[in-house]
This record gives sequence, C-alpha cells and structure tokens, in this order.
Amino acid sequence: MIVTEIDWKWKSGLSVRAKTNYVVLHHAAAKACSPYQVDSWHKANGWSGIGYHYFIRKDGTIYRGRPEWATGAHAQGKNHESIGICVEGNYDEEYIMPDDQKEAVKAVLRDIKLRYPNTTVKGHKHVGATGCPGKYYPLSEMMTYYRNIIPKESEKLNMTQYEELKKEIDTLKTRIGYFNYIDENMNESYKPTVQKLVDIGVLRGNEKGELMLTTDMMRIFTVLDRTGVFN
Ligand SMILES: [Zn+2]
Repeated sequence: MIVTEIDWKWKSGLSVRAKTNYVVLHHAAAKACSPYQVDSWHKANGWSGIGYHYFIRKDGTIYRGRPEWATGAHAQGKNHESIGICVEGNYDEEYIMPDDQKEAVKAVLRDIKLRYPNTTVKGHKHVGATGCPGKYYPLSEMMTYYRNIIPKESEKLNMTQYEELKKEIDTLKTRIGYFNYIDENMNESYKPTVQKLVDIGVLRGNEKGELMLTTDMMRIFTVLDRTGVFN
C-alpha cells in the first residue's frame, strides 16, 4: 500500500490519541475534491487542518491526512478513540464507488486491522447524527470485509511468540559488540527492520559480528516493527 504524504501546515498543535477502538468511514459529500480542498474546508471550521487520517481519491490514490497517532477531527465524540478515513465523492448522489477507490479503502482497512486487531469499523452515521458516508457508500461490504480480515501466517503474532521474542531480545542485548552489516543473503523483506534494530542498538552481534537470528525471529521482529513498538 502506498500512502502519499503531504507536508501539511497545521494551524495549531496536534494531540496524541491515547486509544484506538474504531475506524470511522466518511465521504467528502463532494463529487470531486482534493485533500488540499478538504484541508482548507477544515481550517475554515477553525480546526488545525484536515481532520481525517486518510483521504482516498476516486482514482485510488491514498493520501495521509493527520498522522495516525494524532487525534482526528472527523467524528464528534469519537475522535479520541478512532481513525478516520474519507473518500472523495458524494455517495448520497453517486450510486457506484469506482473499483480503484473501493480497493484502496480496503487496502487501508487491512493495514489498520493488522496494527489494531481489536478495532471495529463504523460509518460516521453510526456514531453521529449524519447521513455520512452516504446511502450508496458500500458500508456493509466494508464492515464485512474488516470483520473477516485474517492475518496471513506471516502477519500473526500471538502472545507466546511475543514472550519468546522478549526473551530473545534480552539474550541478544547481553551479547557483546555491535553488528554493523546486513547479510547480502538476508530476505529483502526483513532488511529494513533488522537494520533499524541494529541502528537503535536493540540487536547486537557476537564478537564476530554475527547476529545469530533465525528466520522465525526476523519474521517476528518484522511483524512487531509494523506495530510500531520500535519507533
Ligand atoms: Zn463523515
């Protein structure tokens, strides 16, 4: 999933959202609009800037609005515990969501569900007095999709694995000397996480500079990294 970043200028500071229980779905109620327009509308409301965490255009381009850690401004009463996703379009008047946009919403939902497995998804109208995200928005399809997202084997992390990992990390921490290179043969998908852990000193090698990581451990580190625990 590619998220297009925008260097937003916030009018005032953003606050950290302490909990995440819901994902709230919205439409912009405008048939064509850019994330910049949404930002200017929200600033005109007196808000810090775009209130959603994600804004998805009809062509499927996914834009980052507020950083995901920040409290949004999209669902009164639920902002302190939810992530907001808005789509371009007016789904009170447009009958069909383009496939590219629909797939992009699902990609964002999947990404969020893997990081916040205990969340549920709701339409804005389920938590506030509004018709948003519009009567033709594929809301029940999205809710069913979200409920049925099952992490792939490689994305699963159960508590046993977590406890084992913690033990492994403690063992690794006691090893002497920093590991300062990444094995050329290491699976590409593990490299960014392993390099990061080396950089921040969580992983150290033995005196030969060997990390002694099993594939399982690299996999678990990578999954953990996605949850943000190493940030
Ligand atoms: Zn809404």
